[in-house]
Amino acid sequence: MYGMASPLTPSRFGRRAFLGIVCVATAMVVLSWFDDLHPVLRATLPARAAAVAGIGAAVHLGIVRQSAAERLLFWLGLGMAVARVWFLGEVSVERAALVVIAAVALMLPLALLLAPRHRRLSWGAATVLLCLVAGGRSILPEAPGGFVALTAFVALFWTLLGVLERHARSADEAWGIAHTDQLTGLANRRAVLHQLEEHIGTGPDHGPTSLLMVDLDRFKALNDAAGHAAGDDALRLVAMALVDVVTDRSLVGRWGGEEFVLLLHGPDALHAAAVAERVRVTVAASSPVTASIGVATRRPDDDVLTWMSRADAALYRAKSAGRNRVEFAPSDDTRVGDSP
Ligand code: GH3
Ligand code: MG
Ligand code: MG
Repeated sequence: MYGMASPLTPSRFGRRAFLGIVCVATAMVVLSWFDDLHPVLRATLPARAAAVAGIGAAVHLGIVRQSAAERLLFWLGLGMAVARVWFLGEVSVERAALVVIAAVALMLPLALLLAPRHRRLSWGAATVLLCLVAGGRSILPEAPGGFVALTAFVALFWTLLGVLERHARSADEAWGIAHTDQLTGLANRRAVLHQLEEHIGTGPDHGPTSLLMVDLDRFKALNDAAGHAAGDDALRLVAMALVDVVTDRSLVGRWGGEEFVLLLHGPDALHAAAVAERVRVTVAASSPVTASIGVATRRPDDDVLTWMSRADAALYRAKSAGRNRVEFAPSDDTRVGDSP
């Protein structure tokens, strides 16, 4: 019902343990560049050292978050590590093994942190395999027996991958609980705010977005008349109805109490007026209550606060005008006909 990419959180692996791994691995990789350098690589050493140090610093400062740029940075770093191993020339199994270990130790935790939540295993596996293939390339011509060492590394790192993945999964579960409304299973207020901030942070060039503030009408009266359990049932029914109305790309959240928020992306946002009207009709048809709705389409200069307060003001007007209706923030050029 609610799928949002998790941000990098220091608690995911245990901040200190993770930083320890990254710092040690970074030092190993950087130091390994100072001997046996292939001439082609020598010229790129400062840039590579700076990039690896930058990755370590970014992680250290907790500023690495999931974004296209940071994922690119990761693959760049991995590419450099692989190239380093690939161009080692003919070296001993031990030497290649050390470099592979250093590369994987640095890149694997980063891969697991930066990968989209459901792709972590494949990102981790791809990372390990790329380093191993590069290591194999540097050993094979002279020492086919290196296959044995490589097999051992595969087993070792596969185990490490499993451990990290387990940690990551339990952190994901905790993250999910912290961002999900227990009663309805929708995104909770924290999650909605997070998405709004993330969306605002992407700038105005990512297509239109509309915000719907939905407040159930005279909900207290339902509680008073039918009891809180019936009120809870009504909230669940409304939540299901809201999810049914929007497309997968849009977010449905419980803002608190009997208030819900919809963040409409894509086609839904283009037809916010129609979606809002559909929400109003669907809530009335599928639950014992009606809903008043305020709609605000995002303006380029909106921040979360102004955007929400424009939707809120529209909602307030819907209440004042008699409830069970849709109202729009003044600048919105989308309109529907009069609601009842
Ligand atoms: P209005 O049309 O002006 O919005 O009136 P209202 O009664 O909906 O608004 P009001 O703010 O007076 O009351 C909100 C009610 O929602 C009061 C509170 O008991 C109820 N409520 C909030 N959260 C829950 C919940 O989780 N379960 C139940 N059953 N009731 C809740
Ligand atoms: Mg309310
Ligand atoms: Mg209400």
